[in-house]
Amino acid sequence: MKKEYGINVKPSLMQARKRFQVKPQIIRYQVDSNLIGIGDGKTYMIKTYGCQGNLADSEKMAGMLEQLGFKKTEAEEDADFILFNTCAIRENAENRIFGELGRIKRVQKKHPGMIIGLCGCMMQEEKTINAITKKYPHVDIIFGTHNITKLPQYIDIALKNKKVLEVMSVEGDIYEDVPVVRDHPYKAWVDIMYGCDEFCTYCIVPYTRGKERSRMPQDIIEEVKQLALQGYKEVTLLGQNVNAYGKDLDIGYGFADLLTDLNKLPIERIRFTTSHPHDFDDATIQAMALGGNIMPHLHLPVQSGNNEVLKRMNRKYTKEEYLDKINKLKKAVPGISITTDIIVAFPGETNEQYEDTLSLVKEVEFEGAYTFIYSPREGTPAATYPNSLTEEEKKDRLYKLNELINEYFAKGYERFVGEVVEVLVDGTSKQDEAMYSGYTKHNMLVNFEAKPEDIGKILKVKVTKAFTWHLLGEVIR
Ligand code: SF4
Repeated sequence: MKKEYGINVKPSLMQARKRFQVKPQIIRYQVDSNLIGIGDGKTYMIKTYGCQGNLADSEKMAGMLEQLGFKKTEAEEDADFILFNTCAIRENAENRIFGELGRIKRVQKKHPGMIIGLCGCMMQEEKTINAITKKYPHVDIIFGTHNITKLPQYIDIALKNKKVLEVMSVEGDIYEDVPVVRDHPYKAWVDIMYGCDEFCTYCIVPYTRGKERSRMPQDIIEEVKQLALQGYKEVTLLGQNVNAYGKDLDIGYGFADLLTDLNKLPIERIRFTTSHPHDFDDATIQAMALGGNIMPHLHLPVQSGNNEVLKRMNRKYTKEEYLDKINKLKKAVPGISITTDIIVAFPGETNEQYEDTLSLVKEVEFEGAYTFIYSPREGTPAATYPNSLTEEEKKDRLYKLNELINEYFAKGYERFVGEVVEVLVDGTSKQDEAMYSGYTKHNMLVNFEAKPEDIGKILKVKVTKAFTWHLLGEVIR
């Protein structure tokens, strides 16, 4: 029988583009007490795609579900509620979700009453919602990135055998005190801001995640304090552009102030992602130079080494400005490890312009990079730019770039051979179950022999060998 809708609100892309002019409110999350217990005896599974922002959202949604009484399951066929937290950054990420929806229908047939939910960036696109409601009627709940705190209400409606479609066009308020079930016992994600105001011409995020909204410093500091008390060792501060933190607050407090304040807390490691060269400023360099718990690693996406391409990408900095910031940082934090993101074959990128990217890689000596062939996202300006390169040429550019980056990657690892490094032990190694692994302060992977009771500790490890992607070492007891 066809289910009726309990809520049916679709987004409008035009409205989203106008952006929200009203300052978001800070709201202390409280679950409707009538809903506590609706998940008793039921299980849930959340499948997360995409970036750390989605991982952090999934941890909050797990917290809300457990507050209702749901218990986590690892077995898909046993789950009473399966939620797909989707990513819209690339078309193939979207195609994977459509494949998953076809597959999950068969699982749902064997488990009548299983509720299927979809949320995340893909759900902010009207076209995607239309396709899902038409072709995948077995999906019960659809919601977007701005209303995750309404999940308990949506579950309540779905348990009453009705469907939910509610996607907000404009960003919502900032919710504090949302319950969280963290995936990792020693490492935590902490959102410091939401949204992005940059509008790089290839990127869909400003449309799906909305305008920049920063959390109040005291709420972030309190969360990190509590994490330290609970035994967490490492915190990664999250935002689409963390360097813009505080701009919207208008209280004269920015990202460098936040780093400086967090450096005073008894948490061993602070990392942050993602940075934007345009907003990465001298104050942040000074805050990083203080050392302490601020880790000597920076991921600073450059995207291209050519000024004309950077302009077409709307990145708002030049190659020279980028290099100037990197040089200042290298002086202020000797030995810092720098990684980046690069897009090749951006529409109109000539061979000379691509060569500029290679020369920038040589100059900075990046010790790691996420590299991509440009892929158009419908609804972004760059998707309309003509691109005359053949697939072969695009692949060739990526291949040569990766070859070059791997040289510096290996060099970066080699510089630690013979050194004693501090490693936060994550668990057994993915490559070799007999070994343990963890990351150094410079965010480099190390494998070593250890004991189960070492997991979650910071150990001193002497590096004995470097490979392209990891180090090998011996624990110093
Ligand atoms: S900074 Fe640019 S690439 Fe990053 S999320 Fe914002 S628009 Fe997208």
